Amino acid sequence: MNATMTGRVPLAKRSPKSTSKTKEEKRENNKKFKHAKLKTKENTRYKFRWTQIPFFLIHLLPLGAFFTGVHVADAIFLAVFYFTGMFFVTAGYHRYFSHKTYKLNRFWQFIFAFMAQATAQKGVLWWASHHRTHHKYSDTDYDIHSAKKLGFFYSHLGWILSDDHEETDYDLVKDLAKYPELVWLNKHPLIPAWIVGITAYLIGGASMLFFGFFLGLVLLWHGTFTINSLTHMFGKQRYVTGDESRNNPFFALITLGEGWHNNHHFFQSSTRQGFFWWEFDITYYILKLLSWVGIVKKMRPVPDHIKYAHIREPEKYSAKLRNEKNQS
Ligand SMILES: [Zn+2]
Ligand SMILES: [Zn+2]
Repeated sequence: MNATMTGRVPLAKRSPKSTSKTKEEKRENNKKFKHAKLKTKENTRYKFRWTQIPFFLIHLLPLGAFFTGVHVADAIFLAVFYFTGMFFVTAGYHRYFSHKTYKLNRFWQFIFAFMAQATAQKGVLWWASHHRTHHKYSDTDYDIHSAKKLGFFYSHLGWILSDDHEETDYDLVKDLAKYPELVWLNKHPLIPAWIVGITAYLIGGASMLFFGFFLGLVLLWHGTFTINSLTHMFGKQRYVTGDESRNNPFFALITLGEGWHNNHHFFQSSTRQGFFWWEFDITYYILKLLSWVGIVKKMRPVPDHIKYAHIREPEKYSAKLRNEKNQS
């Protein structure tokens, strides 16, 4: 039984995985996060900058479809782009690059990074380094996008638009930065998205560009941002994590499995985020298929002592105690 299971772990150290580390590993880990900044309402207030204009402009571009009309092929492109894009966000950016929950060879690693970046959510090392910071400090004063501390807008969009988070902290992603092809991709984050956009235009003209590509991009952005904001606000908490992470089936549907966010915050090392059979996790099902053809290897399971932690120690999971823990 580890320290989390006995409830003796300070709230800042939440995952069962992190509690099994040696003292040296913990010290090393804390050194890595030395750039974490204290977040207050004042230093996270929204500031307009000219560099944000393309981001806002892209939100208006789907309206171009009113001038071009929409064809069936455009709708098909939109559906395929959203589905594959979201798969590579969750399977790539999140479950592989941020958490290393399964293995890929170097070729497929590059393909997963490239495809994830087709959604224009910045470089793969940028994404992973910021996400690792989120888990380290979730819903504390150092969390980069805490909905609880900083409100919905900052957790959804504000942190991405802020100049505090433009740089990649390479200290946090040394395991990824040793691959020059990933570093190159990280420094040229928009190349994959440009290729998809140009392809859409060449296949289906302006209507596919506006309705298929740009609308797809906007939906993919907000679908992903929802995990940072709304899954820390709405849903149920099965496990005591000391943060506001929630399980929510609707968000799991639109993000192909990421909505089981309380499960994920409790145990970040498993490939699947829907821990029980009824918690549908489309990303996991696709990764399972890819493992049968040898692309994906060594998917990490959810151990039973983690999965049933709430049943084995029900007294720890009562609503009253959970509230007390969250307030302390
Ligand atoms: Zn995560
Ligand atoms: Zn989270």
